[in-house]
Amino acid sequence: MRPFTETISLAEARARLDAVPVGITRVASAPLAMLPGRVLAEDVVAASNVPPFARAMMDGYAVRADDTTGASAGTPRDLVLVGRVFTGEVLAREVGSGECVEIATGAPLPSGASAVVMVEDTAPSATPGQVAIHTAVAGGQHVARAGADIAAGSVVLRAGDVLLPARVGALAALGLGEARVFERPRVAVVSTGNEVVAPGATLAPGQIHDVNRFTVSAIVEAHGGEAVPFDVAGDTLEALDAAMTSALACDVVVFSGGSSVGDRDLLLDALRARGRVVFHGIATRPGKPTAFGLVGDTPVFGMPGNPTSCLTNAYVLLVPFLRRVARLPAHSPRVVSAPLARRVTSGVGRTQFYTVRLVGGRAEPAFKASGDITSMAHADGFVEIPAEVGVLEAGEDVDVVLF
Ligand code: AMP
Ligand code: MG
Repeated sequence: MRPFTETISLAEARARLDAVPVGITRVASAPLAMLPGRVLAEDVVAASNVPPFARAMMDGYAVRADDTTGASAGTPRDLVLVGRVFTGEVLAREVGSGECVEIATGAPLPSGASAVVMVEDTAPSATPGQVAIHTAVAGGQHVARAGADIAAGSVVLRAGDVLLPARVGALAALGLGEARVFERPRVAVVSTGNEVVAPGATLAPGQIHDVNRFTVSAIVEAHGGEAVPFDVAGDTLEALDAAMTSALACDVVVFSGGSSVGDRDLLLDALRARGRVVFHGIATRPGKPTAFGLVGDTPVFGMPGNPTSCLTNAYVLLVPFLRRVARLPAHSPRVVSAPLARRVTSGVGRTQFYTVRLVGGRAEPAFKASGDITSMAHADGFVEIPAEVGVLEAGEDVDVVLF
């Protein structure tokens, strides 16, 4: 055994991670359908107006606003109906004084007209071929002018903007087929352990299935990264070093297993042989045997092998780090406050991530053991119990950070 030389607080671990300068610089064009959630790499300047033409915002009649002065239900103003314009059409004819044109929502306002009277504010006139206008409209009423949504020449979106659905919509409105975005950071996900085999394989005695590859990959994909899966590496320096060699082609490397203090826990040796260790050992539960280092500029995480420890640290440490690499804003997980259903004790001196299930508005303890994936699979989120807190009483309100 080779005990932890230095166990740091969670705050210190976060600070050391935050101090690593990161941020993907590779840029690529991606088609519209691939853009949601991506980060724009360049400002987008509108090359054209949206809408491209002045259009009706209501079904009704295009008129010259002056022709409706003084009109009301009691004193209607009759206008001569000279045509109809539907969407996708352009009326060749001008609307003259005393005239109107039936118009559909979204159709171009005919020249000469300056406003639209809603159909609800009109009635058939006693005179055939005329429409009785029951209200006065101002110039521009119920009309969207060209460029009202996006004016040609304006900056619609900025570099660094996350492409939320509406922002992809703005690009679509401009008729753009693609945009320049930052590439998603590639994250090598490497499980280690002589006993670990891929799901699908039949287990020989002593073997277990690889959980961490799938939980870590899921987290990576949910937070702007591209998970690059690796075959499980055995517990030898040669195997770890070979895995490290290929993994270092990625932007971030996440190992799991072999990060503790056993004789076969060689990840630290593999890391030290290549680069430098930024920390090893965090005062958290679960998740203590976590390492982080840099090989050149490439960040390397050494997560604990225990599935719950590994996944907890993926949420707590990897997510904020990876989002910085991906140039995404900090994650704000949903937090709900709920009274604890039962008393919970926690070791003083270690931050505990205690999983709970929300049942009938109360937070039921769900934590079993660090090795049990159901500590999380049967939970809705976790309560972060600060290092100095030893007991949370039943009925006490806790903040549950939802997964
Ligand atoms: P280690 O961190 O390598 O000491 O592993 C701690 C525990 O987690 C051991 O019981 C391992 O068998 C288990 N373990 C390690 N890696 C994985 C994995 N990828 N999936 C599931 N369990 C694992
Ligand atoms: Mg192991």
